[in-house]
Amino acid sequence: MKLVSCSEAGRVFAGWWREARVLDLAAAGRHINEAADLGSMLAIIRGGDGARAALQRIASRSEEFADVWLDAGRLQFLAPIPVPIRNVFCVGRNYVDHVKEGYARAGKEARLPEVPQFFTKATGAVNSPDGEVRLDPRLTRLLDYEVELAVVIGRGGRDIDATRAHEHVFGYTVANDFTARDLQRRHEQWFKGKSLDTTCPLGPCIVERAEIADPARLELSLSVNGEERQRAHAAQMIFDIPTIIAALSAGLTLEPGDIILTGTPAGVGYAMDPPQALRDGDLVVSRIEGIGELRNRIVAVRRA
Ligand code: MG
Repeated sequence: MKLVSCSEAGRVFAGWWREARVLDLAAAGRHINEAADLGSMLAIIRGGDGARAALQRIASRSEEFADVWLDAGRLQFLAPIPVPIRNVFCVGRNYVDHVKEGYARAGKEARLPEVPQFFTKATGAVNSPDGEVRLDPRLTRLLDYEVELAVVIGRGGRDIDATRAHEHVFGYTVANDFTARDLQRRHEQWFKGKSLDTTCPLGPCIVERAEIADPARLELSLSVNGEERQRAHAAQMIFDIPTIIAALSAGLTLEPGDIILTGTPAGVGYAMDPPQALRDGDLVVSRIEGIGELRNRIVAVRRA
């Protein structure tokens, strides 16, 4: 099931996205007297096995809900979790070719990380799948893109063993870890340059874990104004998803609804020769086969 968060006339709800239509899950649940709270993505995730069983019953009776299927064109798609419970967890330098291009740009020999490198993006950075990305030229001259596979945690836990990590995954979505490279360098720490408002589009949906047999086979790609810049398989990650979940949850309790970005492959703008920064009006399309795509326009802030 492709699960989405949508808004219609100011009302936000969780939906099942199928082709050109979206089923309002809470309305469908009421129709067949489901007890589970299906009113928001976080409620569904926190509802665990009970909510998942309710979704399956709804899926098996989908044609009974003629009144609650909505035309997707009338809806605004939001980030699947529009307001995350806390900062978005991220892994840096997790694809060999991306690590190498970064060192090459600095004129240094590449050194691969021996453990996952974690940082976070502020919740205010989260943006909708087709949201505009704000470019403030007073703050940054080097806004860059990073397509990433994002993992949404279902069952929480601490000290999760890598062999059981998949049991803690609710599903997968597409992310772009937009980054102000110059801010990242100036502050000598990644958080500031990674946390500007609107710089973490997510979506368009969460695909449930059971529907993606092997996330390593997913193919990521990104284009700027139609020109392909990134293309790779998740199998090229240095640290795979179970390793990331095990390392992050060591002594740190993961909660249902936590979001983890798993790193970007090669092809980022700053590593190009000459380096390419995103500009006002650029359209960045981030895609993962089997999940969907983000379409984000870069919009420069104008001041009187
Ligand atoms: Mg990144």
